[in-house]
Amino acid sequence: SREWHLVARPHGWPKPEDFALRETEVPEPGPGEILVRNLYVSVDPYMRGRMNDAKSYAEPYRLDQPMHGGAVGRVVASGAEGFAPGDHVLHPLGWREYALVKAENVVRVDPGLAPLSTYLGVLGMTGLTAYAGLLRVAGLKEGDAVFVSGAAGAVGSQVGQIARLKGASRVIGSAGSDEKVKLLVEEYGFDAAFNYKNGPVAEQLAAAAPDGIDVYFDNVGGEHLEAAIGALNLHGRVAVCGMIALYNATEPAPGPRNLSRLIQNRLRIEGFLVGDHYDLQPQFVQEVGGWIREGRLHYRETVVDGIENNLEAFLGVLRGDNTGKMLVRLPE
Ligand code: NDP
Repeated sequence: SREWHLVARPHGWPKPEDFALRETEVPEPGPGEILVRNLYVSVDPYMRGRMNDAKSYAEPYRLDQPMHGGAVGRVVASGAEGFAPGDHVLHPLGWREYALVKAENVVRVDPGLAPLSTYLGVLGMTGLTAYAGLLRVAGLKEGDAVFVSGAAGAVGSQVGQIARLKGASRVIGSAGSDEKVKLLVEEYGFDAAFNYKNGPVAEQLAAAAPDGIDVYFDNVGGEHLEAAIGALNLHGRVAVCGMIALYNATEPAPGPRNLSRLIQNRLRIEGFLVGDHYDLQPQFVQEVGGWIREGRLHYRETVVDGIENNLEAFLGVLRGDNTGKMLVRLPE
């Protein structure tokens, strides 16, 4: 079985030499353990933070140990009651071909109800992030004008569509290519979208939202956050989900220069972690699952094949190679 190890802590952009794909023996499950053949492995921006030796909400990856992250796969051997070969499960040991998982860390999934890949994306962690961040943290209300950055990604594309379905008056998105911008407007029903690489964010946002915005869902940070604060109307809210523009920075970035607008406009900025919002999971799956079945919420996935391409897929997320959830697919 092959698995990816972190062998050096990246400084700035990760380099291939910081990682190694290593061969290990396929283990036997002991009592309470399950051996899983991974079929889809998730790559996520937060993994960049785990490569640093810094205390954070997620434990840093250990050097010369396998990295981990969300995965779905098929049980091949089980020492745990209630799990049998052929079952499909969601678990936290990605970045490898075979995973030995404790039964208490496994959630059974049904490929007959939804495609396996969606348990990592639109009906999984990134989907719940969009749902909880927009509805609970930002407190979306009917009639709000909503701006979301990273809008063609896994979280962002769902934020914009949920906002539309929940009665936002105007949905605006930003993304890093003209093709992604076109997708936002033509397929996801955004009212306006722009390519942040084409000019200053503040100017492009002002043109896209002439009456300002009430909610900003931040996936990016930096220039985007400052521009959004500048556009927020009275009692505007920001849900801070991620700051991907800063993840490979080697120096702390300057903060928004316009924070005095928080006072004038009684703004609220609140960060959140999806892990605190799993109580919404049943409601989220029911509501979003329904929208998908009815064809009212669309999603894309960018799928890369083979464990040997797991690292490239991860680097691709940081570069913006993906549209929607980025996943690695392994053969049955
Ligand atoms: P995405 O699918 O959105 O992929 C990341 C995207 O970020 C890329 O496709 C790229 O798209 C964009 N990007 C990369 N660099 C920059 C940059 N410098 N400026 C602007 N955009 C950039 O990933 P996810 O949907 O999984 O995650 C989105 C955000 O949500 C991340 O910040 C992530 O850390 C955060 N997150 C937070 C969680 C929480 O609990 N708080 C949980 C899950 C995710 P483009 O081509 O548009 O540049």
